[in-house]
Amino acid sequence: MKICFLGTGSFPTANRNSQGILLQSKDTSVLVDCGEGIQRQLLKSGIEYKNLKHIFITHEHMDHIDGITGLLALLIYQGQIDQVHIYGPSDAIKVIQAKIDSCRPIISKDSYHLHTAQASKPIIISEMIIIPFDTYHTNTSLGYVLMAENKKIMCTGDIELKWLEHKPDLGRIDKLIVDGAHVGMKTLTTYLNTYENLEVYLLPVNYHNSQNDIRFRIPNDLDIIEF
Ligand SMILES: [Zn+2]
Ligand SMILES: [Zn+2]
Repeated sequence: MKICFLGTGSFPTANRNSQGILLQSKDTSVLVDCGEGIQRQLLKSGIEYKNLKHIFITHEHMDHIDGITGLLALLIYQGQIDQVHIYGPSDAIKVIQAKIDSCRPIISKDSYHLHTAQASKPIIISEMIIIPFDTYHTNTSLGYVLMAENKKIMCTGDIELKWLEHKPDLGRIDKLIVDGAHVGMKTLTTYLNTYENLEVYLLPVNYHNSQNDIRFRIPNDLDIIEF
């Protein structure tokens, strides 16, 4: 499996793009979240994107969806992909539909398909299984557990304290990519520290002011992890 952090920030800064995490198995690529500028990050990364046909969105906030139309245009015109599938919670899907509607005729109706995802309803893409779960950040926000090649990666998007209060079972997760901006870092790290072997990647770093006392990883844009 390969993870490429295309964007690791919230609002773009000089050093960090808004969020987007590319997950690749041998034959399949999916993107989780698509902040402003992700299509350019993808080009900069040099990663092959001709099989990127599936995009998962965690919620409707701008730092997670504002790059969707630009990325669609790139994939359809330069990637020559016939149809891109976009999955997300109902509120995000409504906002994305409106964004795409504003881009006609550049993005034609048959070049994309929107799917409303629901917690606990698995989505299967070739050898990947993706299971959405509630994150309690907005009314319908979702995170995703992705399973492929006997590995499990969890991308939470923005979480709220309520997610921790539900005590998510992180026991068999290989890599947790978590956006802790809306949860006190102390609370988050205290909970995550109960899982000794969990590998945690913290996003977005714009908001973390006590990085030095965290044992977790703080990824930079365009970092690639292969495992
Ligand atoms: Zn948010
Ligand atoms: Zn956010």
